[in-house]
Amino acid sequence: MVKMKVNVIRGKNQIGGNIIEISTDNTKILLDAGLELDNDKQDELPDIPALFEYAGYDAVFVSHYHGDHLGLVYKAHRDISVYIGESSYNIIKTTDNYKGNETITPKGFLHHKEEIVVGDITVTPFLCDHSAFDSYMLLCSSGGESVLYTGDFRSNGRKPFSMLLNSLPKKIDKLICEGTTFSREGYFAVTEKTLEEKAVKLFSENKGPVFILQSSMNIDRAVTMYRAAKRTDRVFLEDAYMSGITTAAGEHIPNPKFSDVYAFITSPSKYRFVSEYKRKVGKDRISKMRFAMCVRTTMLPYLKSLSEKMSFEDGLLIYSFWSGYKNDEKMKEFLSECEAMGLKIETLHTSGHADENAVRKFIDTVNPDVIIPVHTENAERFREIAPEILVEI
Ligand SMILES: [Zn+2]
Ligand SMILES: [Zn+2]
Repeated sequence: MVKMKVNVIRGKNQIGGNIIEISTDNTKILLDAGLELDNDKQDELPDIPALFEYAGYDAVFVSHYHGDHLGLVYKAHRDISVYIGESSYNIIKTTDNYKGNETITPKGFLHHKEEIVVGDITVTPFLCDHSAFDSYMLLCSSGGESVLYTGDFRSNGRKPFSMLLNSLPKKIDKLICEGTTFSREGYFAVTEKTLEEKAVKLFSENKGPVFILQSSMNIDRAVTMYRAAKRTDRVFLEDAYMSGITTAAGEHIPNPKFSDVYAFITSPSKYRFVSEYKRKVGKDRISKMRFAMCVRTTMLPYLKSLSEKMSFEDGLLIYSFWSGYKNDEKMKEFLSECEAMGLKIETLHTSGHADENAVRKFIDTVNPDVIIPVHTENAERFREIAPEILVEI
């Protein structure tokens, strides 16, 4: 019988930068080819000639578009086939175009439960919830063996966790599982729905403008904030970059084609990115609107000029990132300048990663013989939460 081998090239005892090799005697594929999260380490390519110098892999399957899973695909040898979710691809194509970067050319797209056969390995994607839109778990099968890679996932998003659990096989041989939250003791993941309720309260209690500092690529969060804006009679404002992303994500995601979403630009050079939208507004109109505006730290000069046209009194800045980013110099400056403009800073965030309860529930569902922890700084914790299962650290 052909044996399927698992080799975690990178990502075992660290968060991010996943590169996982699955091979048989005849076929060799990678699950994710990510960059390290640490910016300083990103220029150094890992020593994998078969990925960069020649096509030593038959394919790379990308679980989702976060750089720590996708980043190295841009540098991979062009003869290696790339597979990624279709909406994911539409989103990265849009962001690459916006930034003037060359994009990738996938050979095919991942769709929920649609098998892709590469040599003697069959890969089945399972749509899961994460802070990246269109994320997949990847099930590899060959010669009666099965290996499931979770990618990044959570149970606290808008998609019901039970939907994912019901669709998965009830017995697998090996589970390559993420444990991002295991270094935060006693961590409990708040749901997006709870965030929405908190946002509704804040958006109605504070009468001034609302600014939301969040990742434009976090579509679930954009939906949460849009819903809160709608419920409190605020129009939702997205800049050129975010408008492109939400439009690429699909017609159900709040984008400037919605009647209560408007596009705005922070400089005339960005106009070409919003020209297709009927609903676009400039500072003069914005200053007279009741709104919730998505912002980024690079928009500080724009916010300053807007504050000269309208009062920021009783206004809010919603900080919707992981708290660790508050130590970043650029972030510190942005937050203190926002405070100086009279905005009150409120944190509303929840993780894109499963907490321990969700991981335990997940393990119970797929019932693996072996667990291989990845994307974690506390792999040992798997031995405590699943003592009956062999954990390969
Ligand atoms: Zn990740
Ligand atoms: Zn991720």
